[in-house]
This record gives sequence, structure tokens and C-alpha cells, in this order.
Amino acid sequence: MRVAIIGGGIAGLAAAYELEKLRAAGNGITYALFEARPRAGGSLASETVNGAVLELGPDSFLTEKPAAAELCRELGLGSELIPSNDAARKTYIVVKNRLVALPDGLMFLVPTKLIPTAFTPLFSLGTKTRMALELLHPPRQNGGRDETVAALVERHYGAEVVDRLADPLLSGIYGGDSAQLSAQTVLPRLVEMERQYGSLTRGMLAAHGKMRAHAQKTSNGSGRGKTAIFTTLRGGMQQLVDAIVSRLDPASLHFSAPVSALEKMPDGWRVEAGCVDEFCDAVIVASPAWAAGVLLGQVDPVLGDELSAIPYSSSITVNLIYDQAGLGRLPDGFGFLVPSSEGRKMLACTFVHRKFLGRTPPGKAVFRAFLGGMKNEALLAESDAALVAAVRRELTEILGAKTIGAAVEPEHTQVSRWRRSMAQYAVGHRERKQRIAERVAALPGLRLAGNAYDGIGIPDCIRLGRQAARELVASGSPIAAAD
Ligand SMILES: Cc1cc2nc3c(=O)[nH]c(=O)nc-3n(C[C@H](O)[C@H](O)[C@H](O)COP(=O)(O)OP(=O)(O)OC[C@H]3O[C@@H](n4cnc5c(N)ncnc54)[C@H](O)[C@@H]3O)c2cc1C
Repeated sequence: MRVAIIGGGIAGLAAAYELEKLRAAGNGITYALFEARPRAGGSLASETVNGAVLELGPDSFLTEKPAAAELCRELGLGSELIPSNDAARKTYIVVKNRLVALPDGLMFLVPTKLIPTAFTPLFSLGTKTRMALELLHPPRQNGGRDETVAALVERHYGAEVVDRLADPLLSGIYGGDSAQLSAQTVLPRLVEMERQYGSLTRGMLAAHGKMRAHAQKTSNGSGRGKTAIFTTLRGGMQQLVDAIVSRLDPASLHFSAPVSALEKMPDGWRVEAGCVDEFCDAVIVASPAWAAGVLLGQVDPVLGDELSAIPYSSSITVNLIYDQAGLGRLPDGFGFLVPSSEGRKMLACTFVHRKFLGRTPPGKAVFRAFLGGMKNEALLAESDAALVAAVRRELTEILGAKTIGAAVEPEHTQVSRWRRSMAQYAVGHRERKQRIAERVAALPGLRLAGNAYDGIGIPDCIRLGRQAARELVASGSPIAAAD
């Protein structure tokens, strides 16, 4: 079986890796990967500058989802995996130019500890009272209709929690807008808790109790088993990309090769990329959904429209390396998130040298600012110099001139733009995904992978890429399956 893969981001690379393994096992597989850019990895990219690892795209993945660490281990990168420095984990929210620490006990936006919630300056007395009354919230009677994350959170805890918690967390992580994102898809656990318990706080406390009991059982009282929230690679996420590429057949990889047409033939698929015309039995489309929509619209216009309707956000990362000698004392923790109501360009900033130890040389500090998102796409048009100047100005205003004076020059700056790179699971995403799956099932030899469908993070993209490859091969000749 010959398989074409369109898109060499982490999802397409994971699919290619799986096919390569099956090929090596003598399954009679060959493949060709087409990537529009001159390099592999899509949003994953890192650089090392004067000993400091700079992540231009994602900096880590959630440890809880095993697919990424598993792949790293398979690739021989097990000893390169490093945990986030959770002993120093503390995140702040910017409120009227001041940093306010997230109170202890917050789980998925849900307060679970009485004392820290009662004393935090993050919320007003009215919101705290509402949080206490939330314990009496009745189960929702809406027949399971989807709603936005903002609507769900507001119904339970009020508008201030949307503004100071849901909005900055979702925009700082997904570049997303809580007033558009689907509660059912982005926070399925909370939707289920509401159905079962009414109160999200009561639901979360029950889930937490079960998790604690399970952890105690599995750690056998040894106290071990506490895993870090995030995992990364010592040399940056680029290490994962390089390790996968090194396992693939170089003759199968086509860079600077955007696929411009995809055609369903009676006995397979035709893929057109520049002057290359590839005939294959099956195709894995691992490009962003907007690009998949253009290509598959030529095969099935309804499928094309569904894919094109998935919204995407764009974002920018700005990395700044400083000599710590020129800085004052930074607040503890991993960094801060900025609510949109603060009217700033930055959505979030990570103190990189604190979040992952051993990736920044001693005496240096690395700040990684995140900008753009659904509400501020226009920033992408600004020059690198203007973006760096804006981040420096806002760092001084938020952290204080004593910590990072306006005159203190960074040793190095790096700006990366990620246009339409993060899919947004808007209200109704689950139904759209189902409609897409039905149209795809009617096209033998076609699979989709990537961040537009079933999880935006790196582990989900890897899982979907590998699964697409395995399913195609397990289905045998896709043409035979259709007959
Ligand atoms: C700034 C940023 C920070 C992030 N932080 C994190 C994080 O910390 N942790 C985490 O888990 N996730 C994070 N994410 C999300 C995660 O990185 C992405 O969801 C994931 O990498 C997407 O992988 P993908 O393969 O689906 O898509 P992409 O990486 O977008 O790859 C798709 C590829 O398809 C190619 N392509 C498009 N059209 C064509 C065509 N016609 N022909 C051929 N090729 C084509 C593109 O050039 C691209 O390389 C972050 C994302 C960004 C942008």
C-alpha cells in the first residue's frame, strides 16, 4: 500500500513514523510526505542561543496524556525528557497592573479550597459569596445543548470569574476566546459534573477525592507517583521533530512542496504538489483544517465546507534573553496571564528559566511572551521591533521598573508568528466532528489528523496521526474495502 501524507507538522510526522515502523516490519507499505514549508515540525520549533533553549512554538506537553512521552521514549529520547519545575509552580493573573497569584486549589477553573478562595484578592466579595452558593447549584435541564465556556462559567460563578480566570486561561493557552469555545468539547469533565452533581465545586471535590484514593493505592504509601504537570525535552521540542525525521526515509520526504490538488480516482488518490504527481492508495490529510477544506472541497464540497468552517487563531511568541545581573528580583513562579479587560497586547508571559530547569544558562533569565489570539489578530501585521518594544514596555509596567527597567536591554530577542495555527473548538464542534467523520468514512483510503479534531495539544496530535496510519493499514487495501 502506498500512502501520501499531506502536512509535516507533528500529526503528519507521527503518521509517517507509524508507517515507517509498519514498513520496516515488512507490511509492504511505502509513503510520501508533502510539507508546504521548507522544514518539518509545523508549530514545533526551537533554537538554542548562547546556551538558552528558546521555544518558538509550544514549550512542553501535558504529562497526563501519554502519547507524546511514549513516542519520545520509542525514539530513544527517554533520558531527554524533563519535568516542569512544579515546586516553583505559581501563576499570576494581572489585575489592574498588579500580579495576583491564582489561589491554591483551583482545578479546571473550579475553586475547591475554602480558605485560599476566601482570602484571595483575585475576586470580589460578591463573587466569593456566589462561589459558596454554587454548592447548591441544581443539575442543568437543557437536554445536553452545547454552550460557550464563558456561559457555563458565568452561570456557576459569575462574570468576574470569566474575566479573571476563564478568559485569561483559555486565551493564554489556546489563543482562544471563552465566549466562542465549546464547553462540551473544551471542558467535557465540567459539563458531565454539572449533569451529575449540579455544582461544579461538589463534582470536582468528588473527583479529587477519588483521584487521591487511587494515587494512595497505586503509590503504596511510598509518596511516589507525583508527576509534573508538564514535560518537555532538554534540547527543546525540536528534538522530537529531528528524532522522527531521522527515522524516516529521506527519499519519502518532500519539503517546500505544498499540495495544490487532491483527486479521488477509481483506484486510489492523486496528489499534486508542484510538478510532482503522486498516485497512491490512501491519503492522510494532516494539514490545518482550513487547508484540508480547500483540498477536500475538490472531492466532496460538503466535507470541504465543514472543514473550512473550523475557526483558527493566530499567535505570536516573543522570547527575550536577559542577564539577570541587570534585573531586580522577579516574583516567584512560572509567569502570568493577562485578562483581555486589562487592554494589553500580551496574553501571557512565562519565566522560562523557572518553568524548566537546565535549559537556561546560570545568570540568565528568559521571558517568553504570548500575543495575538482570537481577539487581537491584527498584531501579526506589526514589525518585530514594534512587538519587542510592546513586550518590553508591558513587562516594565507589570513587573515594575525596579524589576525590569525600561533601559535594561535584552541580550537577544526572537519573534515568531503562527498564522491560523491553533484550531478553536467552537460551540457545536462535537456535532461538526461527527458530520466530518461520516463524510470521511464514505471516502475509502482517506484519514484526517491534526489539531482540528480531537485535542489541540501535542499528545493528541501524535495520537491521531499514529492512529490514522494504523487504521489505514489495518483496513488493508482501501479500494477493496470499498467494493
Ligand atoms: C505558539 C504556540 C504554542 C503552543 N503551545 C503548546 C504547548 O505548550 N503544548 C501543547 O501541547 N500544544 C501547544 N500548542 C499547540 C500544538 O503545538 C499544535 O496544536 C500542534 O503542534 C499542531 O500540530 P499539527 O500537525 O496538527 O499542525 P501544524 O503544526 O499546523 O502542521 C500542519 C502542517 O501542514 C502544512 N501544510 C498546510 N497546508 C499544506 C499543503 N497544502 N500541503 C502540504 N503541507 C501543508 C503546514 O505548513 C504545517 O507544517 C501551541 C501552538 C502554538 C502555535
